[in-house]
Amino acid sequence: MLEHNFKKKFGQNFLTDKGTIGKIANCTDIDKDTLVIEIGPGSGNLTSYLVELAGMVIAYEIDTDLKKILEDKFKNTDNLEIIYEDFLQRDVMTDILKFNYKKIYVVANIPYYITTPIMKKIIDLKVEVQKIVVMVQKEVGERFTAQPKTRAYGSITVYLNYYFNIKRLFVVSRNSFIPKPNVDSIVLLFERKKVSNLVNNEELLLKLIKDAFKYKRKTLRNNLKNYDLEKINKVLNKYNIDLNVRAEELPLELFIEISNNL
Ligand code: SAH
Repeated sequence: MLEHNFKKKFGQNFLTDKGTIGKIANCTDIDKDTLVIEIGPGSGNLTSYLVELAGMVIAYEIDTDLKKILEDKFKNTDNLEIIYEDFLQRDVMTDILKFNYKKIYVVANIPYYITTPIMKKIIDLKVEVQKIVVMVQKEVGERFTAQPKTRAYGSITVYLNYYFNIKRLFVVSRNSFIPKPNVDSIVLLFERKKVSNLVNNEELLLKLIKDAFKYKRKTLRNNLKNYDLEKINKVLNKYNIDLNVRAEELPLELFIEISNNL
């Protein structure tokens, strides 16, 4: 049994089910041309599979108490660099630029309380991360993959779907972890979309999405007061809707069309 004091504040629930760990590592084409960034290796369960498949693995672990376990486990592994720091604080670009790989993927069973900031940080990196395999809390997975006109659909859905095609792969029962969390998890695969030349002004699009969802229960007319409502209405009218709808009615494509017409 693992000698480790599990820390709730770091979202520590280690995956113990070997079948599931193997499925996560093998759900996409990680190969020797791939640099994998792992966030939160824990005791290295998933890491063991990743170093076999990938050219190089850089792992970020915030909990220095795991250092001994990880160092013992990987003392003979030469394609792994473990950085004992908060992924959110670290200058990750400097670490990545030390290596030169065709593909950069992120694979992580991430601490659930920081899922969104982690996703944002990955997207904002100066290199393009082509794929992300993440295990998240099931409800969060539903939010990321929600369809318009559903309760789970929000600005984060539109934001992430602007950059990635997101697939739900499989559900992982809470019983597969130690300690056992209160919720089930889901594994998602994010695949980068081709750079969109359909968007005139990306910054404006992202701001529009954020503002449109500012108050979930309010209509576009209220949330987008500071925009040229007449121009927005004109676009909406093409689809037989108007400013009295809520942002949750609008698919990503319509946000793009509106922002291009502002
Ligand atoms: N991947 C392992 C552990 C998952 S638990 C497994 O599947 O078994 C989440 C891990 O993320 C823990 O090891 C925790 O210490 C680490 N962690 C939490 N916050 C972090 C942060 N900000 N940066 C890096 N690692 C973090």
